[in-house]
Amino acid sequence: MKDFSQPLIENKEKIIERWVKKVCEDSRIESTYGLSRPAIIDHLEHVLAALAIILAQDKKDNFETIVEASLNHGILRAEQGFDASEIAREYHLFRQIIFSTIEDCLLQATAIEIMEAIRSIDSVVDEAIARCFQSYTQQRIEELENLQNQLALHNQELTRFARTSQDNLSYLAHEIKTPLTSIIGYSDLFLRIQKQKSEIKSTYGNLEHIEQVLTSGRKLLRLINNALEISRLETGETKLKLEPINPREVIEEVTHMLKPSLGNKNINIKANLHKSPQVVVTDSLKLQQIITNLLSNAVRYTESGEIEIACETIDENRWKIVVSDTGIGISEEELLNIFNPYYRVAPNITSCVIDGTGLGLAIVSQLITIIKGEIIVESELGNGSTFTVILPLQIQNK
Ligand code: ADP
Repeated sequence: MKDFSQPLIENKEKIIERWVKKVCEDSRIESTYGLSRPAIIDHLEHVLAALAIILAQDKKDNFETIVEASLNHGILRAEQGFDASEIAREYHLFRQIIFSTIEDCLLQATAIEIMEAIRSIDSVVDEAIARCFQSYTQQRIEELENLQNQLALHNQELTRFARTSQDNLSYLAHEIKTPLTSIIGYSDLFLRIQKQKSEIKSTYGNLEHIEQVLTSGRKLLRLINNALEISRLETGETKLKLEPINPREVIEEVTHMLKPSLGNKNINIKANLHKSPQVVVTDSLKLQQIITNLLSNAVRYTESGEIEIACETIDENRWKIVVSDTGIGISEEELLNIFNPYYRVAPNITSCVIDGTGLGLAIVSQLITIIKGEIIVESELGNGSTFTVILPLQIQNK
């Protein structure tokens, strides 16, 4: 039997040299950029030596010698950031160089000897690839597991941090609310007493300042209440309280409550409730809050025209509330953002500055999720808006 190991042993340096050059030049193996020569060669010398031994000894299935080298190679390649296709490519180049090195020797051999040699070389290289991939994959899995553990720790840390910040913020908000409520109460009282006195006419100018304090105080209180509400909703602290209610009554109550906020605006509020379900099982306070926010938005963003609230059963499981207005409307791009907390449409787009916190619709959206519904908005800039809330007739309390 012809010994093909000789050309490999004699040309060992040359084979390695050619291989390093090819690997470095190959555009499909980018991870070698910046690596030193020994880092690239790594175990290849051992695989080559093992290949020579196998070819010389005629022990075609004794691969033990290459196992360790290939396993280490896989670990190193994972650490060096190679991807699997790059490893496959470096072995492909290795195989090519081996065959071209023993080409002359092969040409002098018999057909059987050639077949035998090809089979041995392929088996050794395939085994090396298999072992290399095995350790490469193992190493990558370990890296991922480490990463996952680190992420879990970071996540815990962040959650703790967020919770502490939220607690601090809520504490601060509550602390501000107490003096703020006094400021609002006393300003209101002072204003009413002064207005009742007959001599006030001469001091009207001064009262405007108090009115300003009152308006700003109320605005700040609304912002604090909304911020506390959204923070409660986001942390999942809000619980469902289900009860059978007549939605018509809730809507009428909210509509009645909001009428004073129309002020001097020339708006007609219409309630279309004759198709309303008689009873629904839901969280009445949350429903009330949703309707209040949608209706008060309709009032704030409409100068004149009509606001309509309608309510009707859709099928045996669902009902809907529709709040529409003839107000300033919302552009298509802004529709994507209006449910984000603290998002407000820029005044130059709405063309007028309207007081707000940017939290109303974010709260509505969270509340609707809690009471298992969905909301749809249709609007066009300058042509009014329609908010449709679809809800289950009976929330299943699981
Ligand atoms: P804000 O306190 O600013 O009203 P919201 O979360 O309630 O906060 O609404 C977010 C934005 O969506 C508003 O700034 C406003 O531009 C727009 N918007 C909400 N409701 C309407 C409506 N009925 N008509 C026109 N624009 C609206």
